[in-house]
Amino acid sequence: MTRAFNFSAGPAALPEVVLRQAQEEMLEWHGAGASIVEMSHRGPEFMAVAAEAEADLRQLLDIPDDYAVLFLPGGATTQQALIPMNFASAGQRADYVLTGHWGKTAVKQATPYVSVNVAASSEAEAFRDLPDRAGWQLSPDAAYVHITANETIHGVEFRDIPDTGGVPLVADFSSSIASEPLDVRRYGVIYAGAQKNLGPVGIAVVIIRRDLLQRDGQPRADIFDYRSHAARDSMLNTPPTWNWYLAGLVFKWMLAEGGVVEFARRNAAKAALVYAAIDASGGFYRNEVAPSARSRMNIPFFLPSAELDARFVAEAKAAGLLALKGHKAVGGIRASLYNAMPVAGAEALVAFMADFQQRHG
Ligand code: PMP
Repeated sequence: MTRAFNFSAGPAALPEVVLRQAQEEMLEWHGAGASIVEMSHRGPEFMAVAAEAEADLRQLLDIPDDYAVLFLPGGATTQQALIPMNFASAGQRADYVLTGHWGKTAVKQATPYVSVNVAASSEAEAFRDLPDRAGWQLSPDAAYVHITANETIHGVEFRDIPDTGGVPLVADFSSSIASEPLDVRRYGVIYAGAQKNLGPVGIAVVIIRRDLLQRDGQPRADIFDYRSHAARDSMLNTPPTWNWYLAGLVFKWMLAEGGVVEFARRNAAKAALVYAAIDASGGFYRNEVAPSARSRMNIPFFLPSAELDARFVAEAKAAGLLALKGHKAVGGIRASLYNAMPVAGAEALVAFMADFQQRHG
């Protein structure tokens, strides 16, 4: 069996050791006579798995006690709707900073519940840079300011946490959580779909400063209420137990590998390799993002023609480098380099890029 280097943007590659452990435990979990997915979420076995996953994530990201950690179904998009419902009153202003596609989906999900103020946007520049903080038109009475820490499609990442004064900063960290140390205290809410750096698709992590849970928000069903989920340890309904368990295995793997400090080192090394290959190609490979805003996680780039883009993707696949096709909104190539991608994967990609250029350049 050969596992290829998988550059998928998400659902993304999981660490092989985690998949092997899950495989080993699939039929019978720790001598319990049944798989973990066949047990009650309220039984002692799964309750222990769930509590351990939360404790491990708290250790990994250094999450203070005055932040709640929720494990919820519905992915990141659902959180984009729940955030305004829970933290803003009906029609209250909320500021959104748009740096790519996912910021726009956040606005779309929030629009029925709040008065969206697009405080800044780089859309006119095709999302190739971050809008300069000095030009943001923030509202002093906003319920929160929303940013996308890393734009998965456009390959743009915040490298500095913007100061929003007393207004809570809400950040979509779906494609960069746990990729480097994170100063949780600078945020009111951090949310992420698991399917890039944290585990399998089907579960999202939401980290909420507890005082925000006191906000009334808007009339909503109990199941859409973060307070209720927090009060019931994310077991208000039957949680996605398999996904939670697998994410827990990924957290243990990340801790054993050296935690977020080590992943920051590896991720910087991988991104540096790929950007250097692009920049040294004499224009054969082209990344259009301003250097200071370049993402470490998702690197979109273009060859001289769409025909060469397609050829690159096909030949790369044949060479064991999977899922390099760019998102249709941008085109070209996209290499996603999440935590589970080893440095050897980035090395294999740049070696392939050099070889491909030699043959087709
Ligand atoms: N935000 C970002 C930054 C993403 O990358 C994605 C998914 N690729 C989403 C939100 C949407 O996540 P989901 O599909 O889990 O709703």
